[in-house]
Amino acid sequence: MATCPKCGRENPDTAQFCSHCHMTLRFTCPACRHAQTHGGTCDQCGVDFTKYALMMEFQLESELRRGRSRASSHRNAIQQALLLPVTGGFSLLKYLRSRMSGE
Ligand SMILES: [Zn+2]
Ligand SMILES: [Zn+2]
Repeated sequence: MATCPKCGRENPDTAQFCSHCHMTLRFTCPACRHAQTHGGTCDQCGVDFTKYALMMEFQLESELRRGRSRASSHRNAIQQALLLPVTGGFSLLKYLRSRMSGE
């Protein structure tokens, strides 16, 4: 049995929250999945739960940012491919016109 540190109620070891006051009784390490009765740092691998959560959030954010920049550069490539015949045709027209005017 796990005793609630807040209200002293006995809870089964498998309970994640106190059945009486809903205090968190089991914390699962986000890195190694080790379950323990207190938050803060992991007893098994020493990971700081709060820092780890922040790090994951930062990683996700930078990944999203990378994805966005990749999408915009992809869009630029499409734009350039679409503009290429236009600019190429335009310079050809300029070339032909300069030939016709005898320059
Ligand atoms: Zn409790
Ligand atoms: Zn851990």
